Amino acid sequence: MKSYDAIIIGTGQAGPPLAGRFNDAGKTVAIIERKHVGGTCVNTGCKPTKTLVASAYAAHLARRAADYGVVLQGEVGIDMPAVMRRAHQVTLDSRHSNEDWLQGMPNCTLIRGHARLESPTTVRVGDELLTAPQIFLNVGARATIPDFPGVHDVPFMTNSDIVVLDRVPKHLVVIGGSYIGLEFAQMYRRFGAEVTVVEKGPRLVSREDEDVSQAVREILEAEGIHVRTGAECIRFAPHADGVAVGIDCTEGEPEVIGSDVLLAVGRTPNTQDLGLDTVGVEMDERGYIKVGDDLSTSVNGIWALGDCNGKGAFTHTAYNDFEIVAANLFDGETRKVSDRLLGYALYIDPPLGRVGMTETQARKSGRKVLVGQRPMTRVGRAVEKGETQGFMKIVADADTKEILGASILGTGGDESIHGVLDMMNAGATYDTLRWAMPIHPTVSELWPTVIQSMKPV
Ligand SMILES: Cc1cc2nc3c(=O)[nH]c(=O)nc-3n(C[C@H](O)[C@H](O)[C@H](O)COP(=O)(O)OP(=O)(O)OC[C@H]3O[C@@H](n4cnc5c(N)ncnc54)[C@H](O)[C@@H]3O)c2cc1C
Repeated sequence: MKSYDAIIIGTGQAGPPLAGRFNDAGKTVAIIERKHVGGTCVNTGCKPTKTLVASAYAAHLARRAADYGVVLQGEVGIDMPAVMRRAHQVTLDSRHSNEDWLQGMPNCTLIRGHARLESPTTVRVGDELLTAPQIFLNVGARATIPDFPGVHDVPFMTNSDIVVLDRVPKHLVVIGGSYIGLEFAQMYRRFGAEVTVVEKGPRLVSREDEDVSQAVREILEAEGIHVRTGAECIRFAPHADGVAVGIDCTEGEPEVIGSDVLLAVGRTPNTQDLGLDTVGVEMDERGYIKVGDDLSTSVNGIWALGDCNGKGAFTHTAYNDFEIVAANLFDGETRKVSDRLLGYALYIDPPLGRVGMTETQARKSGRKVLVGQRPMTRVGRAVEKGETQGFMKIVADADTKEILGASILGTGGDESIHGVLDMMNAGATYDTLRWAMPIHPTVSELWPTVIQSMKPV
């Protein structure tokens, strides 16, 4: 049995930097990976998708060249193998740099294989047994394969398959109208596929305010994407042209025939084959590992970080989990998950940047709420760029002047939201942002104006 000061299972967004802290502190650490170093974000998530989104944006802009007085000769074509090579190279570079980083740490051992807990201090990887007083689980999540009738009778893709697809489907049916599904829907439409989004709920991105959902739908439909919401009875059957997707919507055709199907209906934590039951690490009914505010599990000496603890589903939440655990273990701090403020983005074009409460949540909170809103058609920077879809909105507490949240669906929204996010993190009132002097011309320069326009709701 090999002994270490710490064992980390999974090389996603939290594990490698944590290995770095142990290494730097002169402690021995084993980090175990059963597939690709870098996990979901690097290999099948953020990195390849945002690279593909960039190619799709280039195609879209090229088709709009005349709007800018730019003359292109002939049709805009898509070389899908080249698009895919570009995305794959970005993934490979990132994967390899993570591998080099881990392998370059003198006190760190990178072990390949599936890890399983055998006791609260023992991990098995194949024939090898490792032991450490501290174990960190960073095992992430995978695409959920829902129990829809016929799903196993037809070919389907998940995010892991579609990020390496080197052809444009004739008709891509995306099951799931939320963050992951919509990014693929728009990108493949821009690559030239016919695309239908099938969503069980009554609207797209149902976590957001209704006006945001509606604007997202309009943006996608304007590009020719078919959106089928309220799909209560999703089912699949083989068809001569591919796959028949039964929808049973309250409106429209009851069936869509797609050449290809992408399942994007949520994520399932990789916790079922970790030996958690054996050692008594508690999970919730959906398989997420239960953790306290410091990310410790029900078993002393075992922590869970990243998507597998259900406290976040983003690269930045997984990385922040690392920061919390490292600060508490190495820097004498008492950092807590409940102290963090959640922000995120939906990377359709234009992107949706979000932080804090939605307007709906703020209204339900029982506070006196102020709301300010502005369409992107009245944002100079957006007009100059010729990208005026969407709107920006801020929500505040009328009594305390606390900024409660913001949404920006608009060009540069993923960056501009940080102006509000940083203010909220600093605990500043909306007056502070109101009196800031932003740079012209930017999208962010309108936040003070939107604050000035706030009204009670
Ligand atoms: C299509 C898509 C796009 C996304 N885009 C974004 C985005 O733009 N921004 C954002 O913030 N987030 C995005 N995400 C989410 C983001 O990728 C995840 O939140 C993040 O990767 C979670 O990191 P993690 O460290 O929890 O786990 P992961 O990155 O999933 O890593 C877990 C690792 O553990 C390994 N593992 C699991 N079990 C074992 C075992 N028993 N033994 C050994 N190894 C094991 C796995 O192989 C994996 O490598 C996206 C996700 C998807 C699917």
